[in-house]
Amino acid sequence: MDMHNCRLCPRECGTDRYTDTGFCGCRADIRAAKAYLHMWEEPCISGTRGSGTVFFSGCNLKCCFCQNYQISHETRGKEITESRLAEIFLELQKQGAHNINLVSPTPYVPQITAALDMCREKLNIPIVYNTGGYEKVDTLKLLEGYIDVYLPDFKYFDDNLGKKYSGADNYFETVTDALREMYRQTGPCRIADGIIRRGTIIRHLALPSHRDDSVRILEWIAENLPRDGVLVSLMSQYTPFYKSYEHKEISRRISTFEYNYVLDKAVSLGLRGFMQERSSAKEEYTPDFDLSGI
Ligand code: SF4
Repeated sequence: MDMHNCRLCPRECGTDRYTDTGFCGCRADIRAAKAYLHMWEEPCISGTRGSGTVFFSGCNLKCCFCQNYQISHETRGKEITESRLAEIFLELQKQGAHNINLVSPTPYVPQITAALDMCREKLNIPIVYNTGGYEKVDTLKLLEGYIDVYLPDFKYFDDNLGKKYSGADNYFETVTDALREMYRQTGPCRIADGIIRRGTIIRHLALPSHRDDSVRILEWIAENLPRDGVLVSLMSQYTPFYKSYEHKEISRRISTFEYNYVLDKAVSLGLRGFMQERSSAKEEYTPDFDLSGI
């Protein structure tokens, strides 16, 4: 991939990342904000010892409610080399991580695969690709053989919402093409001793005022992907962070009625996966970013 003319993600902004930052805020060097054992992911990701999570700085989506906006929008973090990233992966494994969890990795796919090549003989835990779902299929193909578990968001069915809240054109077609490619690569979810080894887990964060959009997402998954092959993680933790207050309809938390409405639909469609306790819809679960582990 040519960092002089970056077309890694669906933005295809063509930025020369050696001299400038792309829409995602990223330059050619890897920038990361935190690496640590994360205990608050889905049970089959965090397990008992935690998920070895690396938060990359920058993002190709600009969600107005992003809870990690200091990292994703303001690119807070530190520049590291590919060999340092490989060391971080091995350090997390040594600390007992069940997996390596790459958060917002899209702008750094070539650098990440280079780092994985450096340590793949010593690294024997699954690699998780944790993404907002706005991915190009050609870029995902570069990851075949590197990624064991895809953990994409499916945020919106209605493209108008993708544009309004995340600044993304054509979100629905982009994310659904990406989901099909992810599932093609991983096949059905395989869980052993409570920990996922391979597969695709689709996350959906239910938004206030948009329960019908959530239902359409669940229906699409049920109709287009094997119900017994993918897992769905239905999240209730939406909190009106950052610029969400600019949109009145999402400037509150989701109600119990709204969440249960969406959850009931997931159950009636026969989808398998995870739900989130409503009590976790609190700001204190937002990770604190202090560059530790980088
Ligand atoms: S990854 Fe960043 S620089 Fe590359 S096309 Fe996407 S937004 Fe532009």
